[in-house]
Amino acid sequence: MKQLEERIRQEGLILSETVLKVDSFLNHQVDTQLALEIGQEFARLFSGKPVTKVLTVEASGIQFAMAAGIALGVPFVYAKKKKAVTLSEKVYSAPVHSFTRQETYQISISHKYLGPDDKVLIVDDFLATGAALVGLVQIVREAGAELVGVGSVIEKSFQEGRGLLEQMGVEVHSLARIAAMSPGVVRFVGETDA
Ligand code: 5GP
Repeated sequence: MKQLEERIRQEGLILSETVLKVDSFLNHQVDTQLALEIGQEFARLFSGKPVTKVLTVEASGIQFAMAAGIALGVPFVYAKKKKAVTLSEKVYSAPVHSFTRQETYQISISHKYLGPDDKVLIVDDFLATGAALVGLVQIVREAGAELVGVGSVIEKSFQEGRGLLEQMGVEVHSLARIAAMSPGVVRFVGETDA
């Protein structure tokens, strides 16, 4: 997605060779128009297949899951990272190790909102080590639902996430794929070394 690549170049802060900060337009302050266009792009990329539900993890996947849900005309569900006192019913859950926070937490989704009749599109803001998305794929499989595919807004292609998901037989589409980065420089997949 050209517009997204341009915003990453203009506003992205590369904190190290592995961490990109995009909180001026993606995951702290959110450019709502861009988020809606991202949702439409996911809907277009997976348009060949029926989807009944979009799934993500709180918090930074929510705006894109909502945008994709609007574009597809289906609800979205976000996995919770902490078990709420109100979540007393049965849940599907999976452990996730956070790359940015260096901690392991449990994600969960109520049995009420995911089941064998669902055809699921998973979306998230970043695909890095793949831990968060692999956790969601495990939950979809545990629920007996059909996984249509995974859409990530930004993929850091030099990390192992895409490979892990593809090994699990998952179709992955990312809207901006970063081949390499270092402070001040970002190279997208398909671009030659400057
Ligand atoms: P993964 O499980 O694929 O390693 O990454 C899971 C989550 O970590 C993403 O959904 C995202 O919230 C966060 N994350 C991973 N890499 C980055 C990064 O370079 N920048 C930011 N801002 N978040 C990241």
